Amino acid sequence: MSSTTAKPRCDLRSEYDMACPRCGQADTLSVEITCTATLSINGTEDNGDHYWDEASSCGCDACDYRGTAGEFRINTVKAVQA
Ligand SMILES: [Zn+2]
Repeated sequence: MSSTTAKPRCDLRSEYDMACPRCGQADTLSVEITCTATLSINGTEDNGDHYWDEASSCGCDACDYRGTAGEFRINTVKAVQA
C-alpha cells in the first residue's frame, strides 16, 4: 500500500482540485474566509478556525478573475492516478 506516486509539484489543482477557470493558474488564489475571534478589551485574536466553502468569494491572483470558490473547483473526472 505504499504510495510511490511522485507528484511533479504540489499545487491547488492536486491538493484541492481547484484552479482558475480562466487562466488555469493553480498556485495561489484569494479566497474569502470566515473565522471567529475572541474579543476582549485588548482587541480581537483570531481562533484560527478558518472556514470557507463553495459559495465563498474567490479570486485569481494571476488574471484577477473573480467568482465563487465553487467556480474554481475542477469538476471534471479526478485525474488518473498513474
Ligand atoms: Zn486566472
